[in-house]
Amino acid sequence: RLEEGRALAQDVWSIYNVANLPADCINLGQGYMNFAPPKWVTEAAEQALNSVTANHYSHPKGRIRLREAIKKVYSPQLHRDLNVETEILVTSGANEGQYSVFTAFLEQGDEVICFEPFFDQYLPSITFNGGKPVYVPLHPPAHATGKFSSNEWKIDPAELRAAVTSRTKMIIVNTPHNPVGKVFTREELETIAAIAEEFNLIVMADEVYDCLVFDGKEHVRIATLPGMWDRTVTVGSAGKSFAATGWRVGWLIGPEYIIKPTLAATTRIVFCSNSPLQEAAAAGLEQVQERGFFQKQTDEYAERRAVLTEAFDNLGLPYTMPDGSYFVLLDISRVKFPEDYPFPESVLGRGRDFRACWFIAVEVGVSSIPVSEFYCEEHANIGEVYARFAFCKDVDTLHKAAERLQKLK
Ligand code: GLN
Repeated sequence: RLEEGRALAQDVWSIYNVANLPADCINLGQGYMNFAPPKWVTEAAEQALNSVTANHYSHPKGRIRLREAIKKVYSPQLHRDLNVETEILVTSGANEGQYSVFTAFLEQGDEVICFEPFFDQYLPSITFNGGKPVYVPLHPPAHATGKFSSNEWKIDPAELRAAVTSRTKMIIVNTPHNPVGKVFTREELETIAAIAEEFNLIVMADEVYDCLVFDGKEHVRIATLPGMWDRTVTVGSAGKSFAATGWRVGWLIGPEYIIKPTLAATTRIVFCSNSPLQEAAAAGLEQVQERGFFQKQTDEYAERRAVLTEAFDNLGLPYTMPDGSYFVLLDISRVKFPEDYPFPESVLGRGRDFRACWFIAVEVGVSSIPVSEFYCEEHANIGEVYARFAFCKDVDTLHKAAERLQKLK
């Protein structure tokens, strides 16, 4: 199984890790913040560390305080009174939660539909559990010359329908989308929901960037569409919500028949998630509303997005303006580099974007992630046109990166 789905090739995050790049390179590759979580959240973490009980095992379902806090935030958004015992599960990050769903539900050869490009972690999570990823393209607009909206990346409902077979068990809907930044519209989600209903599929709604949606756009939870609660598991993340990606605290919300076997899987994989940081995540979710935290955080990210995208405007290269998440896809097909450049082994033999990103990181001093990694091998050529830049950095750092990027002119 490890030989399937590129899992034995070095993962893109390790290749473009700061440890491999010049020390002064600005890291806009992995979504790695250079600011701390909010003080009132880290103080709750400190308090938890100084207590006795929060340093020990938690219930495998997650600490009751966190499940209650998740209920408080999500019940109104999902239009139902969530049951903390049967419908909420805390996991060791969103990744582990999704992995556990696959462990619980996939039988050898079961197919999982992913919109391509897809967050790369899905692929090994599916294949390690015996499943088979099936790809449905998100099409960028043809002949884009300058800035275009992430909403212009579209799925073709006929292609989605044609991808369904008798082995299809699940479909992953990632909104806001990594790496495109697309926030799926209600109509698009209705199209997906209708197909999920017709073919009796489970929907994995990866909504880890749900608190980062710009310009007043609406984040629609597919679980709220008619009939969809019963077949959807919604995925959330403390790391994205509170600028704490190293905490590895995430959660799943869904009907009991999905949560119960997934709890059995996660219990046997990690037993329980990090206890003190669950307390901190709970404190965070308890207070977001009264502090208006997600709105404030979104405003800060909108400013960061503006600094990076203005740099791309100045360059005159086509790019996707994201409606959500903290990623921008830049078209790098016109960026030139010498083919005899001393590239490391890890980027040779991969797409052109791997070499372009390496060259830009070393020579321009700004790292990014090659987007062919978010495509299956067969379609990698479609992705190699793009580099993904993350703007989860303070504004000063982004200004510095913006200045350096002008060298690409
Ligand atoms: N989700 C983050 C990103 O896309 C980090 C992924 C990872 O490190 N595995 O940047």
